[in-house]
Amino acid sequence: MSVIYQRVALIGLGLIAGSMAHAIRRRGLAGEIVGTARSAETRAIAAEIGLCDRVVGTAAEAVAGADLVVLAVPVGAMESVAAEIGPHLAPDATLTDVGSVKRDVIQAIGPHLPANVHFVPGHPLAGTEHSGPRSGFAELFDNRYTLLTPVDGTDPAATERLRTLWEGCGAIVEEMDPDHHDLVLAVTSHTPHLIAYTMVGVADDLRRVTDSEVIKYSAAGFRDFTRIAASDPTMWRDVFLSNKDATLEILGRFTEELFALQRAIRTGDGDHLYDYFTRTRAIRRGIIEAGQDTDAPNFGRGTHRKEGAE
Ligand code: NAP
Repeated sequence: MSVIYQRVALIGLGLIAGSMAHAIRRRGLAGEIVGTARSAETRAIAAEIGLCDRVVGTAAEAVAGADLVVLAVPVGAMESVAAEIGPHLAPDATLTDVGSVKRDVIQAIGPHLPANVHFVPGHPLAGTEHSGPRSGFAELFDNRYTLLTPVDGTDPAATERLRTLWEGCGAIVEEMDPDHHDLVLAVTSHTPHLIAYTMVGVADDLRRVTDSEVIKYSAAGFRDFTRIAASDPTMWRDVFLSNKDATLEILGRFTEELFALQRAIRTGDGDHLYDYFTRTRAIRRGIIEAGQDTDAPNFGRGTHRKEGAE
């Protein structure tokens, strides 16, 4: 594949930006990759492992002359980064982000951008529970969706160019309205993470009572929860604070259904439980048929690395 952007600036050098750097290099999609991160430690690691062609000290320096700027910092940090780089963006540059929430991030970034910059928000639906500059890998986005949520007035040519980059990184790209994105992700990712955090928290309380039995006998379901609940605390705090309305809406529905299942167990309503589990089993089959997970036993552990956090 040929070069799509002459200079890509990665702001934040964690799992997602690192994976983008690897994936961009795999196909030679950029003339140069410049990166920066908040801490000197992360910048030093990135330089040591050669994550980018150049690692620089500030975001303002990183975006100079870049025709693509990617904000890959926690959602709560997007606004301050946008304010810092706004005056330094090159005319006609495209600015995108990879934040897990779209409406709040658009409102945080948008006002800081000059009129001659193309803003194309995005979200790769791929991740792991790992973070930091060493955690990225080139295959992270392969066959996974990246959602672009262009705002009113976005130049379609800028969106198309970014789509080509993500496709070059292995992703399947679709466009979506930002509010719809936030509702869908509340169902598929944000609320499940909250449930995993809660379940692991409950088990931790229990562990104090039963010593190490919760760990020792942890079955596949619980082990999966612990992996999800090991996801980065800053990232997930910001996701819930930013996607408040949609998450609360889905949590409300979840609680109602949980109460209904609780009642079915108490009253011995096996039909309710059986019908419910039959319906959910069909959803699982649909996900496998859509190629978004594997049917391998033990949740595919050891067979692919893309399981887990979005
Ligand atoms: P990560 O591995 O924790 O990396 C975050 C990067 O942002 C680090 O380089 C960090 O710098 C920098 N950073 C943190 N706070 C900052 C601040 N206040 N100002 C400037 N830079 C700051 O995170 P990630 O998993 O790549 O996530 C990045 C973004 O991708 C988030 O918005 C997240 O919602 C989104 N996302 C994550 C996943 C996932 O599963 N992980 C999936 C899709 C999208 P230091 O290392 O120097 O602190």
